[in-house]
Amino acid sequence: MSEESRTPSPADRQKQDVDTRRTPSPADRQKQDVEERRTPSHADRQKQDVEARRTPSPADPLERNFADIAPPLTRDAALVESSKCLFCYDAPCTIACPTHIDVPAFIKKIASGNLRGSARVILDANPMGHSCARACPVEVLCEGACVLNARDEKPIAIALLQRHATDYVLEKKLRLFEPGKATGKKVAIVGAGPAGLSAAQDLRRWGHAVTMFESKPQPGGLNTYGIAEYKMKAPLALAEARTILDLGVELRCGVTIGRDVAFADLEKQFDAIFVAVGLGATRTLGIPGEDLPGVEEALAFIERLKTQPYSKTTVGRRVVVVGAGNTAIDAVTQAKRLGAERATIVYRRGERDVPAYRYEQELAKKDGCEFRFNESPVRILGNARGVTGIECVRTEAAAGRKGDVVAIAGSEHVIECDTVLKALGQTPRDEFARAAGVRLENGRMTSAKPNVFVGGDCANGGKEIVNAAAEGKAAARKIHVSLLGS
Ligand SMILES: Cc1cc2nc3c(=O)[nH]c(=O)nc-3n(C[C@H](O)[C@H](O)[C@H](O)COP(=O)(O)OP(=O)(O)OC[C@H]3O[C@@H](n4cnc5c(N)ncnc54)[C@H](O)[C@@H]3O)c2cc1C
Ligand code: SF4
Repeated sequence: MSEESRTPSPADRQKQDVDTRRTPSPADRQKQDVEERRTPSHADRQKQDVEARRTPSPADPLERNFADIAPPLTRDAALVESSKCLFCYDAPCTIACPTHIDVPAFIKKIASGNLRGSARVILDANPMGHSCARACPVEVLCEGACVLNARDEKPIAIALLQRHATDYVLEKKLRLFEPGKATGKKVAIVGAGPAGLSAAQDLRRWGHAVTMFESKPQPGGLNTYGIAEYKMKAPLALAEARTILDLGVELRCGVTIGRDVAFADLEKQFDAIFVAVGLGATRTLGIPGEDLPGVEEALAFIERLKTQPYSKTTVGRRVVVVGAGNTAIDAVTQAKRLGAERATIVYRRGERDVPAYRYEQELAKKDGCEFRFNESPVRILGNARGVTGIECVRTEAAAGRKGDVVAIAGSEHVIECDTVLKALGQTPRDEFARAAGVRLENGRMTSAKPNVFVGGDCANGGKEIVNAAAEGKAAARKIHVSLLGS
C-alpha cells in the first residue's frame, strides 16, 4: 500500500492536525522566510536537482503510463523560468484567468525565493490553485494570452510555476489563511467540488460557520473522481480540499440533499445555502443494445480508474468511445494507457466540429488512439456475455442546417469492439432543481430565492475547474453581503 493511500492512525492524524493547525510564531515565520530566500550552494542545487529528477521511473508500466504528463520544475528551472517573465502592466495572463490571479506578482515572488508569498497570492485568488496548476487548459487561458506568444517565443510556463509554489506549501504543510472572527451566521454548501470548496474558503475567512454536504464518500468533486489520472491524482485533490476543510468547515460526506435530507430542512436550519452540485448522469445514446454488459458511461470508467489500483481496472481489448468532447478524449486516452489494443473515438460530425481542445486531441493521437469522424452509432451488437461490435452509419452535413448531420443511406457498417464508453455530455440535475425549488433553463440553474445561491457546473452548464472556483468565490461574496450587508 502506498504512503499516500495509507489510512493514518488516530495518532498520525493528531500529529498532522497539530502540524497543520499550529499558527507559526513571528520567529518561526522569519526562519521559514530565511529558509526560502537562502541562496542554495552549488552542492545544495545539485542535490535538489537529483532529488527532483530521481522520482519518475516507476517500474510498473501502468504507473509509468499514468505518471504526471507535466512533471514539476526543479528549483533551478523555476528560478530560470520566473526570470523570463516581463512582469507586464495590465498583464493579459491575469485578465485571461477567470479568477484573475495576479500572475506577474506570484512569478516575481518565485524569482525572489518567496514561495510561501507566491502561493498566498495564488490561493487567495483561486482556492483551487493546486488543481488548476495541473489541469487548467492554460493554452487557451493565461499561457495563451502571454505576450511572449506575439514575439514567436514560448509563453511563460505559468502552470508549472504555479505548481512549484503551491506544491511547496502542501509539502511543508504551511497554513496560509485563518478563519475570521465568528459572525454567528450559518451557511450550508451542497456539493464539495471545486465550486463548493472555493466558496467555503472565503466564507470561513470571513467568520461564517460552514457545513458542506457531499453525496460521495470523499470531497473534491470531479477533481477527486473525474480528472484524467496523468493530469492529477485523487490524493492531490483530497490534500487540496483538506487545506480548506482545516479552516474549520464541517463536512458531511455520504449525504445526498433531496434524498437523505430535504432541501427545505436546510432552508430552516441555515441562514444561506450555496448550491454547487455539478452536473448529473451522461446522456444516453437511445439505441438498441445500450444495456449490454460492456457498455458504460465514460465517467464511470474514469471514476473506477481513479478509485482503485490500475491493475484492478478492467478495460476491453477494443474500446469505442462515443463522443468527442474533453471527457471522450480523457476516456479514450486512459483506455489506451490502461492497455486496450485499439481505442477509437466515434463522432457523428466532422473533425472541424470536435468540441475537445486541440492539444487534448493531439495527446490522444500521440497515444495511438483512432478517430472516426462522420459516423453515427445506430445499434450495439452483442449477447449476454457482452458487446461484440457497434453498428454505425456514415453521415454528412445536413443542407441548410448548421451543425446538423444526416445519415447516408446504405452506409451501415460494423466496428468490432468489446467495450463501448458513452461520452455524450452530462445532463443537468433537474430532480435536484425541483427539490430545491430553483430554476433550470437551458441546462443552467438559477435561483430567485434570496437565501439560495448557485454556482459551478450546475450554473454554467459545465466549464472548467477555474470557472467553478471563480463562481464559488463570487457566490461567497454575495452570501457575505446578504448576511452582513457589507
Ligand atoms: C471527465 C472530466 C474531465 C475533466 N477534466 C478537466 C480538466 O482537465 N481541467 C479542468 O479545468 N476541468 C476539467 N473538467 C471540468 C471540471 O471538473 C468541472 O468544471 C468542475 O469539477 C466543476 O466543479 P463543481 O464544483 O461545479 O462540480 P463537481 O466537481 O461536479 O462537484 C459537485 C459535487 O456535488 C456533489 N453533489 C451532487 N448532488 C448532490 C446532492 N444532492 N447532495 C450532496 N452532494 C451532491 C457531487 O457528488 C460532487 O462531488 C472535467 C470534467 C469531466 C467530467
Ligand atoms: S503576459 Fe507573460 S510575460 Fe507578461 S506578466 Fe504574464 S506571464 Fe509574464
